[in-house]
Amino acid sequence: MPSNESKPTLTVVGAGLVGSLLSLYLARRGHTVEVLERRPDMRRETLDAGRSINLAISTRGLHALRQVGLEEEALKHAIPMRGRAIHPVQGALAYQPYGKDDSQHINSLSRGWLNQFLMTQAEATGRVRIRFRQRVTQADTAAGTLTVQDEATGETREVRDTVVFGTDGSGSAVRQEFQAHPGFHATQEPLGHGYKELTIPPGEGGRFQMEKHALHIWPRGTFMLIALPNEDGSFTCTLFLPWQGPVSFASLQTPEALEAFFQEQFPDARALIPGLVEEFFSRPTGHMVTVKCAPWHVGGRTLLLGDAAHAVVPFYGQGMNCGFEDCVVLDSLLESRPGWEEAFRAFEQLRKTNADAIADMAVENFIEMRDSTADPRFLLEKGVEKVLLNAFPGEFVSRYTLVSFSRVPYRLAYQVGTLAGGIVTELAQGLKRPEDVDLDAAARLIRGRLTPFMKEH
Ligand code: FAD
Repeated sequence: MPSNESKPTLTVVGAGLVGSLLSLYLARRGHTVEVLERRPDMRRETLDAGRSINLAISTRGLHALRQVGLEEEALKHAIPMRGRAIHPVQGALAYQPYGKDDSQHINSLSRGWLNQFLMTQAEATGRVRIRFRQRVTQADTAAGTLTVQDEATGETREVRDTVVFGTDGSGSAVRQEFQAHPGFHATQEPLGHGYKELTIPPGEGGRFQMEKHALHIWPRGTFMLIALPNEDGSFTCTLFLPWQGPVSFASLQTPEALEAFFQEQFPDARALIPGLVEEFFSRPTGHMVTVKCAPWHVGGRTLLLGDAAHAVVPFYGQGMNCGFEDCVVLDSLLESRPGWEEAFRAFEQLRKTNADAIADMAVENFIEMRDSTADPRFLLEKGVEKVLLNAFPGEFVSRYTLVSFSRVPYRLAYQVGTLAGGIVTELAQGLKRPEDVDLDAAARLIRGRLTPFMKEH
């Protein structure tokens, strides 16, 4: 039988990136928080054979860290990536800056380091207790009751009468329990591609074997390889491949097939990944899914945030950034609303449309990254976009800039980005070089279409 025990007021399910940061925000509001995490404490046990896995943090994520005084320390461990380095099968690299100049960059940061840092900072408030190997197996989301299994002993207990924050990731057990409520709906759209992480180790003396300040991409149509730099001089590569088909995880079943594939498609990367065969066949293949669901809350008792509410595919580098922005928005609503239910309702109203927008943009960006980055037309349009960003500061903005370098709501970024993209395509017609773009025509289009839209919103 489950045993009962006395409860803290708030319970966060999942000490991942979002749950750890959220518990810190809640603690700063004076709450006592218990965090239940099914994994062991990664600060004491190595969970994935010491692998270095990184992610890109940009303006939204950094802003969320700044609000709790953690941005500066995080940036000490981050490597600025100022553009994309595009690797063709043969020939010279192409380089596309991300923003109007080097000040607009995204940052590569170790996922493990960041998660550990956030957990430690949350505990340092004195109000957060993280309990590891605690798996939530059931929830009564209306009552605020959780059934928790201790993974070490197998024992089950209940946490009662609490306010629950479900930050347990894309496969959320808490979200699963929302099914019990009429009117709840959820879609989980798998991408059709999986991913595998591979390593480019540091060169002699810890030097980076490729350009350090870039996100490297090998776009190949239906599949692609990317690489982000790590502090120790290595790069973490991610190979995105369809599950099935002529070039897919299903087709790469032997070391010979894998070798031949890399030699043909990624010869420069192959030379830098000594552990290719061993890593490819020993490491797990990751899944990617877009989750859309509603509602995100049950009264004032349970709220979903982060990937549990809105998992997105990783091609805009925004999943965590969006989840961190959730924490900022919720925090400000807890300041201005009289109770949990009012805050949760307003949170969903503000965030749902934006989460849907970044989910759709992330899928679109997948197509852009794997396909168009190798297309001369696309490179020309990116060049025109850069000319416009510099020629019309504050007037012309691109979708990428708004998503990665601003905190404009994602929905608005989507709409403005679509208008801006249309202007670029129109101006690039018949051009050979981006610098020949007709700036008078550009001014007319920008001031005729973009400026009125931005004024209206
Ligand atoms: P998670 O990080 O999944 O954490 C959930 C936590 O809950 C975990 O610790 C888990 O153990 C725990 N948990 C799960 N179930 C239970 C349970 N039943 N009981 C108790 N605990 C439980 N985002 C970016 O912003 N930039 C990037 O560059 C980027 N790159 C990515 C690359 C890849 C390949 C992938 C797959 C994702 C990437 N993302 C990126 C997305 C980012 O990883 C997620 O958005 C982010 O991790 C979400 O954080 P979360 O805390 O909501 O969920």
